[in-house]
Amino acid sequence: MLKQKTIENEEAFLRQMSRKVDFLEDPVQEIANQLKDFCQNSSLAMALAAVQVGIPLEMLYLKKTDLNRLEDDAYDENRILINPVIIGAYGESEYWEACVSCLDYTGLVKRPYGVVIEYQDIEGNVHQEEFTGLPATVICHELDHFKGILHIDIASKIIRCTPEERLELRKKEGYKIIRKDGPFVKAKQKTL
Ligand SMILES: [Zn+2]
Repeated sequence: MLKQKTIENEEAFLRQMSRKVDFLEDPVQEIANQLKDFCQNSSLAMALAAVQVGIPLEMLYLKKTDLNRLEDDAYDENRILINPVIIGAYGESEYWEACVSCLDYTGLVKRPYGVVIEYQDIEGNVHQEEFTGLPATVICHELDHFKGILHIDIASKIIRCTPEERLELRKKEGYKIIRKDGPFVKAKQKTL
């Protein structure tokens, strides 16, 4: 099974730009299986960008984005999005994000409440889909990975906590909708 890259030992790898998947050249099904395998064996991963396990291609796996089922161990959405791009974003939300690449750093991040995404499925068919709420947050987090951006770069607050402490924090502060419509104004990326 592939192992995750982390900021502790391989930050430079995580900081690279991922490239678009070429359906004629890249072993798409094999990579999809590897992403699935990693997520199914990780109790913490809600989703994964391929670069996090050493494959700098624009592919992501969605495992858990339903706010009400995060503690359900058997729950797996089992979705692959290939070459996804944001067509539109609106509203504003806030969530304590974590990342299998960022160890125990948990960050409070503002993201759009809703996004319209264009992506390809495993066969290369193009789809357009609207995501709102936590799924939009998760997808934006993964899309940032394609550009080498981590949630700790754009968080307004960062704390270190164990998975158990994070669960408590999320129970207390939850997923916050700031507004459901209006333009999303992107926060400036912090320079380290
Ligand atoms: Zn991440």
